[in-house]
Amino acid sequence: MDDHDVVVVGAGLAGLQCARMLARAGLDVQVLEAADAVGGRIRTDVVDGFLVDRGFQLLNPAYPAVRRTVDVGALRLQAFDAGVAARLDDRLQLLGHPWHEPRLAATTARALATRPGEAARVLRWLARLATGSLRRGRLATRLAGSHDLSLRASLDRAGVDGVLRRVLERFLTGVVLEDDQSTSAAYALLLVRTFAAASPGLPAAGMQALPEQLATELSGRISLGQPVEGISGAAGAHVVSVAGRTLRARRVVVAAAAPEATMLAGVPSTATKGVVTQWFAADELPTPVGLLHVDARVRPSGPVVNTAVVSSAAPSYAPAGRHLVQASALLPRDRPAPTEHELRLHAGELLGAATHGWRSVARHEVRDALPVQDAPFTERRPVVLDDGLVVCGDHRDTASIQGALVSGARAARAVLGGR
Ligand SMILES: Cc1cc2nc3c(=O)[nH]c(=O)nc-3n(C[C@H](O)[C@H](O)[C@H](O)COP(=O)(O)OP(=O)(O)OC[C@H]3O[C@@H](n4cnc5c(N)ncnc54)[C@H](O)[C@@H]3O)c2cc1C
Repeated sequence: MDDHDVVVVGAGLAGLQCARMLARAGLDVQVLEAADAVGGRIRTDVVDGFLVDRGFQLLNPAYPAVRRTVDVGALRLQAFDAGVAARLDDRLQLLGHPWHEPRLAATTARALATRPGEAARVLRWLARLATGSLRRGRLATRLAGSHDLSLRASLDRAGVDGVLRRVLERFLTGVVLEDDQSTSAAYALLLVRTFAAASPGLPAAGMQALPEQLATELSGRISLGQPVEGISGAAGAHVVSVAGRTLRARRVVVAAAAPEATMLAGVPSTATKGVVTQWFAADELPTPVGLLHVDARVRPSGPVVNTAVVSSAAPSYAPAGRHLVQASALLPRDRPAPTEHELRLHAGELLGAATHGWRSVARHEVRDALPVQDAPFTERRPVVLDDGLVVCGDHRDTASIQGALVSGARAARAVLGGR
């Protein structure tokens, strides 16, 4: 039987962050990962020369935990334009961040000026962000207070309506992966704040470069293809069963996603939301507009929550002279997933492009993409369980890269504090 100070189950962002802090503190850490590579929900494949992430996602360099712990420069982030292209009934409306996207300042100002009432109510809703501490933790607590509502109820109460509400809702649907606006308004505001702080982007080598960077300092301490089957014992003497053998550890950190954490560690279950991303290769540039496109019509004509020519923002994602398009939709639990045809049709309409030349490169259906983040907002859930097991993952903090990194750090501190 192998003995270790700490065994970490799972090499997603949370497990890697935790393990590297423990290793830096001089502990003997072993990471056991069921998959064939590190990264968990952040993986990248190379298909016919295209980089395809397993589900479209973006890295926001404004996340405080990313700023603190990631060498963003080394990732060579390719930023998306800070705005959105909203399909309306009669036109494509481009809206952008006034400072980050000066090119869009005039169209944005015009769009707001033609709807002064709507614009004033959106700005009033956003105003909660303008006051108070710049420190995110305190801001989150203050935003939630005892009055956190669902996004829907919060926007209703603020009288936010019309086209601008639809743009805001449809944009956020692609981020929080639900379309009934049940997500905490405080959490939605935090997300808006993060988007306002910096443009998110994609690493030159694909999103998986992020977990791989965290893993570099754990060389020799990560075992891949090792699905943990069970954990027994108590703090001080845990026994981990994996692939027909057992490991003994003083502490075990379960860094699995919500469903597996419930199975392995008895963590109270957290509901999750799914997404499907279809990737297409195109020989012709589908649109010169390098923004994320959403359907802001009263009745969207298809399932796509957002689509973009990814390679316009991130040229490294496609071979020279070719283009990579992503079309993402919610993955329903109660009916079949949107088909490739439905996604292609709707994405083509949103981008204003002919799609007959598009070729499907990959499709990813991620059932448990994100834990729900309902109101009232709970920013921190416990990381130490009654039986001494330590848990981390985005289900312990915010449902994001930021949350996964923060939870990993909290788990490491819990282990170090109990040494
Ligand atoms: C399609 C998609 C889009 C997203 N978009 C964004 C975005 O734009 N911005 C953002 O901030 N966040 C986004 N997210 C969320 C973000 O990717 C996650 O919050 C984060 O990666 C979660 O990391 P984690 O370490 O908590 O969990 P995971 O990445 O799920 O890692 C858990 C690890 O545990 C392993 N494991 C599980 N069970 C066992 C076992 N029994 N034995 C051994 N190993 C086990 C798994 O294989 C996995 O590697 C997105 C997620 C998805 C899927």
